[in-house]
Amino acid sequence: MERLQKYMAACGVASRRKSEQLIESGAVTVNGRVIKEMGYQVNPHADDVKVYGQRINTEEKIYILLNKPRGYVTTASDPQNRRIILDLLKDVQHRVYPVGRLDIDTSGLLILTNDGDLAQRLAHPSYEIDKVYLAKIKGIPDAAALEKLQSGIQLEDGITAPANARIIKIENNNAVVEITIHEGRNRQVRRMLDAIGHPVLRLSRERIGFLSVEGLKPGRYRQLQSEELIELK
Ligand code: URA
Repeated sequence: MERLQKYMAACGVASRRKSEQLIESGAVTVNGRVIKEMGYQVNPHADDVKVYGQRINTEEKIYILLNKPRGYVTTASDPQNRRIILDLLKDVQHRVYPVGRLDIDTSGLLILTNDGDLAQRLAHPSYEIDKVYLAKIKGIPDAAALEKLQSGIQLEDGITAPANARIIKIENNNAVVEITIHEGRNRQVRRMLDAIGHPVLRLSRERIGFLSVEGLKPGRYRQLQSEELIELK
């Protein structure tokens, strides 16, 4: 027997937390009966679990690394009809969803999976996975400005955790900085760099933990190798 929200996450429906919201909203039936009770026990081999009337089951887990190009949104659909990252995953039959987001104007590494449990763990700040970005910024920050990134920046949604930042190169009086953060707030890197007076001109995510964008051209993807998966878990 397994808790309903855990089983839903294992089936790739959504993260555990989102699955709980689906249960609360009355979207989930077990053997034809709406279940709103959190922690309801199901037998994955015998019970018929449906979400919005669709039967769910534990399908093969899939883990993808995508180098997202600029100009694509990280959502599954877009009311404004902009290009979506799922358009790039032509050979992927499974319904996968991204771990965290990149802004439409940001390029770089994104993990996509139907493994709700892993997705939730990776996205959680307590997992403290390094996310390394390269940011081309306006102007050249001095040591005091870089120090502010390290000591924390007061943003409207709270102070940021320490971020490492160093200048990689200077191009036409603008700097390219490498910045490492552990959190994943909305537009966080852009807001942090804005706050120190050096707005972002270009942003790309180079690494998530030990996984790097190297070898993947923009718009290309690959599946994680089993050793990589073991290390990630
Ligand atoms: N920080 C940002 O500002 N944008 C992203 O896409 C990712 C991190």
